[in-house]
Amino acid sequence: MNEPAVSFIAITPAPVASCGRMPVWLRRPVENAGRKDAVERTLADAGLSTVCHEARCPNRGECFGRGTAAFLIMGNACTRACGFCHVNHAAPRQLDDSEPARIADAVRRLGLRHAVITSVTRDDLPDGGAAHHAETIRRLKRDVPGISVEVLIPDLQGDRNALHTVLDAGPDVLNHNLETVARLYPIVRPQADYRRSLLVLSETARYNRTIRRKSGIMVGLGETAEEVRLLMRDLQDAHCQILTIGQYLRPSPAQLPVAEYINPEQFHEYRSFGRRTGFLEVMAGPYVRSSYRAEEQSPKPDKPDSRTTFPKEFAWNLR
Ligand code: SF4
Repeated sequence: MNEPAVSFIAITPAPVASCGRMPVWLRRPVENAGRKDAVERTLADAGLSTVCHEARCPNRGECFGRGTAAFLIMGNACTRACGFCHVNHAAPRQLDDSEPARIADAVRRLGLRHAVITSVTRDDLPDGGAAHHAETIRRLKRDVPGISVEVLIPDLQGDRNALHTVLDAGPDVLNHNLETVARLYPIVRPQADYRRSLLVLSETARYNRTIRRKSGIMVGLGETAEEVRLLMRDLQDAHCQILTIGQYLRPSPAQLPVAEYINPEQFHEYRSFGRRTGFLEVMAGPYVRSSYRAEEQSPKPDKPDSRTTFPKEFAWNLR
C-alpha cells in the first residue's frame, strides 16, 4: 500500500498556483470560533498529532470549531513521498504503545461520537502498522461506549493478512483513498498502485461486508471528467460505498501545481453521477476532504449489503 492515508487531506492553498488566481468559489472566511481552543488544548495535553495540522488542511477552523479532528497515528513522518502531500517524508520513529490509550482518552474528553483515525504509511514495519491500527480501534471501542470508528489506512503493500488484522478489530468504516485517476499515479502516487488500492476495498467487502467501504479523490490534478467517471465505476466494482471528491490545492511550492480549479457545477455533476450509479453517498465540493464531516458521510445502508459474488480477480490478488 502506498501513500499516506493522510494525503488527500493535505491542503492549504500555496501562494502561487500554476493555473492562475484562485476562483471566487474557493474564497471563504477563516473560521476560528466554537470549540477550537478546547480541541487544540486537548490534543496538546494528550501529545497527539492530527492530519488536520500535518497536512495543513484548510478546514481546520471549521472542524475544530465543531469540536472534531482527524487523528494521525504512528508518527508524523511518512515512508512514501506522494506528489501532492505535505506530510513529512523522513525516517519514521518507533511506534508508541501508549498512543491508542491516549487517542481513546482524547476522544472521550472531546465527546466525539465518530472518531476518524488516519496514519502515515509505514512501509518500514512488517505489517505496515496494521496491529497498531487494530489496537487503536479496540481501545476506542472499549473505552468510549457507543463510539463509531473510521480508519483511513494506507494500502499495507497489498498484504491481505495485515488488512484482516485491521478488519478483525471491528472498525465501522474502512477508508482507503484512491486519491487520483489511474493515469496520474506515476506523478501523484509514484509508489502506489491503482489496482492494489482497489483491492484493499474489494477485499474488505469480501472479508466482512458489514464494514462500510469508503474512498476519496482529489480533482484538479489534470484528470478528465470521463476518467473520474471511470474511476467511480472501478470503485463500485470494488464494492466501495462512500466517496469524497475535493479540489486539490497545492500545500506548498514543493508539491504538484494545481492543473485546474474545478467549478461547483462539475462537482455537482460528479455527485449526481455517483449517486445515480450506485454509491450510498458521494460528498463532492471544493473543500470536501476525506475526513470532512465524516460523521455525516457514512450513512448506514437501508438494507444489508447482500451481494455474495465477487469477481475472482478481486478475491485473490492480494499477497
Ligand atoms: S477536513 Fe479532516 S483533516 Fe481537515 S480539518 Fe476537518 S477533520 Fe481535519
